[in-house]
Amino acid sequence: MDIHLKHIHKQFNGFHALNDINLDIRSGELIALLGPSGSGKTTLLRLIAGLEMPTEGRILFGSEDASHKSVQERNVGFVFQHYALFKHMSVADNIGFGLSVRKGRDRPAGAEIRKRALELLDLVQLSGLADRYPQQLSGGQRQRVALARALAIEPRMLLLDEPFGALDARVRKDLRRWLRELHDKTGHTTVFVTHDQEEAVELADRVVVMSQGRIEQVGSGDDIYDRPASPFVFTFIGQSNILPVDVRDGKIAFAGHVLGETTEQDGSWHMYMRPHDLEIVGDDGPIRGPIAVSRRAGRSRFAEISLPGDSRRRLEVELPAEVTADPGLELALRPIRWTLYPAAKA
Ligand code: ATP
Repeated sequence: MDIHLKHIHKQFNGFHALNDINLDIRSGELIALLGPSGSGKTTLLRLIAGLEMPTEGRILFGSEDASHKSVQERNVGFVFQHYALFKHMSVADNIGFGLSVRKGRDRPAGAEIRKRALELLDLVQLSGLADRYPQQLSGGQRQRVALARALAIEPRMLLLDEPFGALDARVRKDLRRWLRELHDKTGHTTVFVTHDQEEAVELADRVVVMSQGRIEQVGSGDDIYDRPASPFVFTFIGQSNILPVDVRDGKIAFAGHVLGETTEQDGSWHMYMRPHDLEIVGDDGPIRGPIAVSRRAGRSRFAEISLPGDSRRRLEVELPAEVTADPGLELALRPIRWTLYPAAKA
């Protein structure tokens, strides 16, 4: 089921939580809504579900206008961050709940519901736990039961709000991989909310980066990391350095030294670079400064260089772990890749 969001606005008592959201989600796609707290991710998910109504705009499920349909009519599967399993029901009864409350002829027979619950337990790799109660499960197992319950109603799509948010890092990582595999098996159109960029990039086909109720960029992990559409996306995704520079006659200058060339027009710009976009050069590198601090991370070492004129302004550079980077040591650097944004916008 493909989903189309057209010019969606959502206001809460005059507060603009979402501003002109336009998004096309393809059938079978796994989409991440990624952004800082308050950027509107959950509100957007709730609008798709039918738990909120848009102030303006339309939501299409395929070619059908779902904007004013109820949650039940939309037939979506949900999983939230905090396991909302019914404590007094067994795992199998939790999974079958959505089917058991159906009315009249739509409600399958008890044995049929049990059979379906067991199949789904198998799918989420928890066979054998049908008769346990939620308190007898680990956090990760409960989230998998929650997902089986969401799938039981044969939803047209799955909506997941920080489904692994409350779990520890290790379990989270395992569940991510598991969810991707499950998605590839079942093929449901899935939209999930996260504020964890690693999770978004690892799991999703496309990532929707949100800020202040707007979509900043939609793209693959590579798109948003390597070709960020705005200064916000550049700094939100991965590590970044920002250097105020002047452009004159095609030359980019910082503190009187030429860093490189550009076709941008004369004026004040901000140069955005990743820590691995800087290289160490000999004594006459255009950016020079002492190492303020350094830290080891895996096979790399990250050193922060204090810049002339303002010792609080620092550039972080990624070095091979074998390079010594003691505080106070002078480094000369040269940028090898960058993106320029006008200083006024950045
Ligand atoms: P988080 O990662 O913290 O969950 P989010 O990106 O999911 O954040 P939303 O929960 O969608 O953000 O909220 C977006 C904005 O809308 C926030 O400023 C929030 O305070 C506001 N908001 C959300 N729901 C309501 C509501 N029912 N009434 C008033 N304001 C709301």
